[in-house]
Amino acid sequence: MIISPKTRGFICTTAHPIGCAKNVEQQIDFVKAQGQFKGPKNVLVIGASTGYGLASRIAATFGAGAKTIGVSFEKASENGRTASAGWYNTAAFEQLAHREGYYAKSINGDAFSKAIKQQTIDLIRKDLGSIDLIIYSLASPRRVHPDTGNIYSSVLKPINQSFTSKSVDPLRKEIKEINIEPATTEEIADTLQVMGGEDWAMWIDSLAQENLLTEGVITMAYDYIGPVLTHPIYKNGTIGKAKDHLHQTAAALNETLKKYNGQALLSVNKAVVTQASAAIPVVPLYISLLYKIMKNKGSHEGCIEQIARLLKSKVYTGNSIALDDEGRIRMDDYEMQQDVQQKIVELWPLVTSENIEEITDIDGYCKEFYRLFGFDVEGVDYQAEVNPEVAIPSI
Ligand code: NAD
Repeated sequence: MIISPKTRGFICTTAHPIGCAKNVEQQIDFVKAQGQFKGPKNVLVIGASTGYGLASRIAATFGAGAKTIGVSFEKASENGRTASAGWYNTAAFEQLAHREGYYAKSINGDAFSKAIKQQTIDLIRKDLGSIDLIIYSLASPRRVHPDTGNIYSSVLKPINQSFTSKSVDPLRKEIKEINIEPATTEEIADTLQVMGGEDWAMWIDSLAQENLLTEGVITMAYDYIGPVLTHPIYKNGTIGKAKDHLHQTAAALNETLKKYNGQALLSVNKAVVTQASAAIPVVPLYISLLYKIMKNKGSHEGCIEQIARLLKSKVYTGNSIALDDEGRIRMDDYEMQQDVQQKIVELWPLVTSENIEEITDIDGYCKEFYRLFGFDVEGVDYQAEVNPEVAIPSI
């Protein structure tokens, strides 16, 4: 079939297997160009198929030669529909890893469930023996609680007061004003259930109980803070509350991991275009301005640049890991530089639908958005027939 993008709101419901494979290949090439480093050996990535999780898997494999197991929740191609981008990414990643002799296996299913945790545990025991790095990079709109069966949905809302702000419909390049009413107490609690740290702790506790953690084990989850401009919807909103819980969870996990001389870390990463960030109001406009300024300055990074730097230059340096006052790794250092943020504050009130292409990098945003789904990738013939059914070798 000939596959073209079909968008609905902030998602694309189709994906192109060849474009996705090329994206993965380019990330691998980037990591290889940085040179090898002495890093983790056996890695579990939870949320491994797109965004920061995929970049983590690629950097660990092609930068440190690690064996990886990746867990994600993606759709295979069915009844003439394309698979999801994360499915194609995982298939391409495994093929390219296997071609170079690296162990890589994947598990597709709900990471919140007991069944998928058990399947992962069995695979680690059978193939790897133990794990020395666990990356927790889930971004999910809902969670079925494994003990109660309750279903929780996360919301992206402010807390206590309504929030009015400029925002963009990025694919139409239209500036509009949005108004979001504050979350209810229940919505705040539900978002914490989905995006807070309980599931991360369940993973680490299960692996510890099964004696699958190596001496010196590291587990890391990803956080975001961002500028004052987005605080009402992010840092001080429902998602920020969930991230606070992730932070408390890291402190508790550090106690659990003491007997392994291990560490639980949070890395505060830069704002980048991913399926998860596209869903957050206001953030796409902020990212469009940020990309323009950081690209001009030469400090722009995407997922793979961030994670390659995180693993090679922050975590696996052979020295102790530099943390901020609150115990977090800061990968948002370039994003939060004062001159960058000052420019955003100056430009923010000036952006209109008429000048958005000139003032911001909205074109770059759109290109990256389509690229997430394998479209707009150089060297791919989008007029050519392509088979949407692609197998993930280990599944
Ligand atoms: P993403 O949407 O690209 O990736 C989400 C991953 O989670 C995918 O692999 C998906 O398959 C997996 N997933 C979702 N639900 C699942 C489930 N039930 N079971 C198994 N797998 C499931 O998201 P991302 O932007 O890379 O976000 C990853 C983490 O990084 C999040 O914690 C996010 O808050 C954080 N972060 C993102 C940004 C950003 O700008 N995108 C910035 C800083 C931190």
